[in-house]
Amino acid sequence: MDKPRAFFGLFAGLALASAVASSATADDKILKALIVDGQNNHDWKGTTPILKKTLEDTKIFKVDVATAPPKDTAGFAPKFSDYDVVVSNYNGAEWPRETKSAFVEYVAKGGGFVTVHAADNSFPKWPEYNAMIGVGGWGGRNEKDGPYVRYRDGKIVRDEIKGNGGSHGAQHAFLVEIRDKEHPITKGLPEKWLHAQDELYDRLRGPAKKMTVLATAYADPKKGGSGENEPMLMVIDYEKGRVFHTTLGHSVGAMKCVGFQVTLARGCEWAATGKVTFNVPDDFPTAEKVSTRP
Ligand code: ZN
Repeated sequence: MDKPRAFFGLFAGLALASAVASSATADDKILKALIVDGQNNHDWKGTTPILKKTLEDTKIFKVDVATAPPKDTAGFAPKFSDYDVVVSNYNGAEWPRETKSAFVEYVAKGGGFVTVHAADNSFPKWPEYNAMIGVGGWGGRNEKDGPYVRYRDGKIVRDEIKGNGGSHGAQHAFLVEIRDKEHPITKGLPEKWLHAQDELYDRLRGPAKKMTVLATAYADPKKGGSGENEPMLMVIDYEKGRVFHTTLGHSVGAMKCVGFQVTLARGCEWAATGKVTFNVPDDFPTAEKVSTRP
């Protein structure tokens, strides 16, 4: 199981692995994912089904969705500990105190967490959440929340300069550039690939501790961007938990990008298990050509 496999090889590999591990049961083959949504200044009703399908199509995830009430969140208490990975498509009101505690405990004890696009706008005043996401935007974030993190002259730089956290220019298709080619999530991906039209988040800031930037994109000032190579894909260690952060995925259209879907699925598997077991598909975008799925 140390080499990435194509999807069709997966079941044979898993069957072998569970035959070797005598304690494994049939259920161990499938990872349990929970998507959290219900409040977002984005089209969560349109995008959650794409997140769900992207994971289910890999055949390694069973996916549930927990939808928070539309205004306050009283009574919203998903059982995070039942899952291998929690995927947030949520940007809204604070969760009840007990739900926040349960979430922190879940990740701290080794649970996987994946934050998608505007989920990194959420909870600006929740320190543990901001430690998990590494960097975030809007919600009053500024230099008090941590540095900007950029790729400059071949290395990642933490910039403490004053300024608001979170911005983006006009939506466009843009190049995503892999900066860590050895991480399981990015290993084998084209070094540069053209992501379908999306918001290119820039000027995110946060504690950025134990955070590794896997991929960046240049926020072109001609499009209203910061003029910096901004982090797009990141991983963060939070106590025993693994977090994958994708800034991509503003809309249904952006999530139809094969690059978004593959990095999401790989990120979810890595957050859940620390490994990635499937290969890069033939329809992955190139540096010249966007690639989307229906
Ligand atoms: Zn957006």
